[in-house]
Amino acid sequence: MDIDHIPLSSSIREELKVVLNSGNIPHASLFAGQDGGAQLAAAFAVAKSLLCIQAREGLSCGECQACNKCQKLIHPDLSFSFPVTSTIGTSEDCFDKWRDLMLTNLYSNLSDWIEAIDAGNAYLNISAREIRRIEGLLSRKSFEGRAKVLIIWYPEFLGVEGNKLLKSIEEPPPNTYIFLVATNSVKILPTILSRCRLFNIPRVPPKMLAKWLEEYKRVLPHSALTAAAISEGIVNEALKSLEGDYNADVAGDFIQWSRTSFTSDPIQIIDFVELFLKDGGKEKCRNLFRYGLFYFNQVNRILNGLIVENLSGKVHGSAQKMAGFLDLNSIESLCRFFDRLIIQIDRNASLKILLTHATIQLGRRLRIALKRSRSSTASS
Ligand SMILES: [Zn+2]
Repeated sequence: MDIDHIPLSSSIREELKVVLNSGNIPHASLFAGQDGGAQLAAAFAVAKSLLCIQAREGLSCGECQACNKCQKLIHPDLSFSFPVTSTIGTSEDCFDKWRDLMLTNLYSNLSDWIEAIDAGNAYLNISAREIRRIEGLLSRKSFEGRAKVLIIWYPEFLGVEGNKLLKSIEEPPPNTYIFLVATNSVKILPTILSRCRLFNIPRVPPKMLAKWLEEYKRVLPHSALTAAAISEGIVNEALKSLEGDYNADVAGDFIQWSRTSFTSDPIQIIDFVELFLKDGGKEKCRNLFRYGLFYFNQVNRILNGLIVENLSGKVHGSAQKMAGFLDLNSIESLCRFFDRLIIQIDRNASLKILLTHATIQLGRRLRIALKRSRSSTASS
């Protein structure tokens, strides 16, 4: 994964390139972005550039032995640390699982990791034992005589024991780099935070993300645009929405769903839910709700006279009708409603109950808004 092959917004890509070209790479850096964003990929690309044996202008060649080993996550001078459960012990004890997850998807988030190690509700942390392991890694000499890089994924999980790393972060051994890859810098120990150079990794503009999906993931243009739009620029979300091909006609599903909800007819609702869940589960439902969130954000844009992108003709017509009777408060409340639904899916609620309830609720909200709009038109 080289810097040009990562979905990054232009400004951060340029910032990273300037740093790499200058050869003046900070020894302690924090790469922070949205959960499921490109921060690990960015830190990894910088690590790769440092370890590449024939880097040009500070950028990795992508071909040498070192680059190959990095690509497979087996370079001896590239180490990783991440939160695990106390039953597992240290990152080393489950590195193979983490490596498998990252080789499949470098944009994986904490929920993916919890699922991969089957941690359920178990408590994750970066323990004192893990910190001793990290200290051991840092004091070791480089195997291949170049740099040595340690990437800490989710340093938010470093407890007060993390302060033991301060000295290494402040004065790392020669040619040693520590990269923290975080989603929530507020939760990082302030003593550590203040010693790092921050690289802020923002969401990727949807058009740019769609182009990346087409080019590097071989996704068809229409699906790439839908995935990029509903993910709101979060790479992992876009990739997930493409799993199982559920986004093939998510827009059509959504229109049918909202129409069914509007009827408030229990039989139609039950039929829709059964048919919808017949060939898909959690991810299909998540896509539907994500699309709902995206759709009402677009309705909001229409209401505010802004340009609406990535909506097909049929969906655009429907969104315009909605804009005819929804006001800003109802839209805001609908967006919060979809946000909650997306969270509820991850809490493993019964999908059938969740979708039925969501359909009834959506219909109720739309009908109330329509009634309110009609009565205010009549009274004015
Ligand atoms: Zn190389």
